Amino acid sequence: MKTEHISFGIDWIFEKGDDGTFTDEALLYQDIIKHAIKLKKSANEKNSNELSFSVYELAKWLRYNHNNYMDRYSKKPLSNVQTEIESLQKGVGSRVDNLIQLELIKSIGTRQSTRGKGPVAIYTYTEFGFLFAWLLEDESEDRATITSEVYDLIQSIFRTGRYAPSYWIFYSEFFKMCRKCGRFQDIVDLIRNTLTSNDLAVTTIVEFIHQIQRLDFKDPTQTIFFSVLLWDQIFNRLDPQIKSLVMYTMKVEIERRMDLQVKNGKNYEKLRFKIRDDPEMIAIEGYCSKCMYYIPGAVDVLEYKMEMISANTINQPVLFIRCPNCKSDKSFRIPILN
Ligand SMILES: [Zn+2]
Repeated sequence: MKTEHISFGIDWIFEKGDDGTFTDEALLYQDIIKHAIKLKKSANEKNSNELSFSVYELAKWLRYNHNNYMDRYSKKPLSNVQTEIESLQKGVGSRVDNLIQLELIKSIGTRQSTRGKGPVAIYTYTEFGFLFAWLLEDESEDRATITSEVYDLIQSIFRTGRYAPSYWIFYSEFFKMCRKCGRFQDIVDLIRNTLTSNDLAVTTIVEFIHQIQRLDFKDPTQTIFFSVLLWDQIFNRLDPQIKSLVMYTMKVEIERRMDLQVKNGKNYEKLRFKIRDDPEMIAIEGYCSKCMYYIPGAVDVLEYKMEMISANTINQPVLFIRCPNCKSDKSFRIPILN
């Protein structure tokens, strides 16, 4: 169990205690997020788009829906419900501020208070907030609705979100295909595990997205299935410009990590510079057991990616290929960076 937090992160929302169950604090954050579904359902019933809430309204909802608060006031009720809700407001407000920092809730201005107290600040959930809320819903209730809501949000985030670079569009095509072949439920499970698993310290939205993109399933056969679908089928069908941008992102990422472990830095950087304009090739460094030294080499980025996928599923950290210097087969050992 983590005992100290440097700053508030997504992992707080899913923090578990030593007994393996969510902490009280985590459960409170989860209920605040689940409130998004309540807003969404009541808006649907009223046929409206009204998805805003005030801290008072949220505190009121939590008073009747968050177990710890229900317990607290059934054991020790205050003079009236109104006072109970008001006593919760400050604590709820500071959690809302934390969720704003994480980009799960956003502030959208003010509205006139119905209780005659002047303008009150109002908030709504971001797409990520709604996404988390659906992932927290009990699957036995309505699995099909959850899957379809998660799909729509994921598509919207990956395709039109303000972050959406080519790499994300690539994944949005992939999710579309997963849905088409009836496997999107596996992706929903993967995303849920990414959030709730205790050993992945996902703290920001960007880390969360990166983690999903790794397609790191518990079952290696699933990882292979989805990675091959992604890199073999979807990648090759991309618009050429998006394809180049995706390859370039991968090139930059792999070369950056390669650079941290090269031995022959001077020659490595020369090769990397020489192939800088070619998004299809990446500069790596390997060790040849015949030449007996570290040699930089240029390899096809997609081939390297496919090797990475198969090596990772069997936990193999290195790969042997033909030496660019002496040309012996399989004497050149290169690292697998994933
Ligand atoms: Zn050699």
